[in-house]
Amino acid sequence: MDPKTAAQQRFTAVQPAVMALSHRIHAHPELGFAEEQASTWLAEMLTEAGFRVSQGVYDLPTAFIAEAGHGPLHIALCAEYDCLPGIGHACGHNLIAAMAVGAGIAAAQVADELGLTIRIIGTPAEELGGGGKIMLLERGAFAGAHAAMMVHPSPTDNVTPQMLANHHFGVRYTGKEAHASAYPELGINAADALTVAQVAIGLLRQHLRSTDRVHGIVTKGGEAPNIIPALTMARYIVRAKTLDELEDIRPKVMRCFEAGALATGAQLEIVGSRPPYAQMQHDPEIAALYRRNAEALGRQFPAIEAGQQRSGGSTDMGNVSLALPSIHPMIGIQSLPAVNHQPEFTAHCITAAADQAIVDGALAMAWTAIDLATQAPLRQRLLGRA
Ligand SMILES: [Zn+2]
Ligand SMILES: [Zn+2]
Repeated sequence: MDPKTAAQQRFTAVQPAVMALSHRIHAHPELGFAEEQASTWLAEMLTEAGFRVSQGVYDLPTAFIAEAGHGPLHIALCAEYDCLPGIGHACGHNLIAAMAVGAGIAAAQVADELGLTIRIIGTPAEELGGGGKIMLLERGAFAGAHAAMMVHPSPTDNVTPQMLANHHFGVRYTGKEAHASAYPELGINAADALTVAQVAIGLLRQHLRSTDRVHGIVTKGGEAPNIIPALTMARYIVRAKTLDELEDIRPKVMRCFEAGALATGAQLEIVGSRPPYAQMQHDPEIAALYRRNAEALGRQFPAIEAGQQRSGGSTDMGNVSLALPSIHPMIGIQSLPAVNHQPEFTAHCITAAADQAIVDGALAMAWTAIDLATQAPLRQRLLGRA
């Protein structure tokens, strides 16, 4: 039997279980590094499918590695399963998990016959700058892998979405309390420091590239209107097209926060700084194969005119993509006008269109893995770089 047909038949056999997995994760959202149920459900299903599974790998309790096949070409499939605070699976990581498991089980059916090893890596904490994949990459989870793939839900299909480099960090200003009306001259206003910083960032926007992003929230603004705020806190994200451009604007944004401290006399501390996410570098050849396979399954890719590609979010898959050939296509779930990180998108992540995206995304990834194994020049390129 043709390997793609064999993979498809295997997928069809597990399709109900894969759908149930997606819906179960969606119904039990877990934040980054706390995805205990989701990672266990994936590990159990992969064990049952004959994978060699290790849970809690590389000092990350909710990470896992599951391998099938013994061939020389190692293909990594990344499974995310973390949610967002307050709005659940508003980024559809339940679909990412289901697609990775479905693709892995389908491709495993022909792995030995095609000289493949399929490695599903359970990667915690993609949201909120958690950087699970960065830790896994640094600790060796991707060692020996020749290519890496994952598929992410979005309103529409896009093979090579622009994903920005980013840096998450926290800001803390410490001032001095005083009675806001009786003794204001004795206070140091930490909320004013944050206001000055926000105004300075607003003015900085004139000088940012159209692909740069600066955004944040105040997480602590003061205790009472009649106490001069002595402690204010914020979390901010700076993004740019590449790590180089990020390094260019990051000091400019930091100077805005310093301006707040200078103007008010409050003390500034940068806290909880996360390792930067790199831009996503899609491997063009693997991306083209994914597109052809997805189109063969009936998916359509809306044409994006040159220069009209919108800046997307960011992903720690970017760091993986700088280390080995990778793809991170977006798969459409027909959610518009609902978009990622809206509660309306959460609701869209268990619709019939979302379930269809799991079928198509899983099979397109499995078939792409088969192409990587069977197209001789590409196989040689991938094997040659390890
Ligand atoms: Zn997200
Ligand atoms: Zn996401």
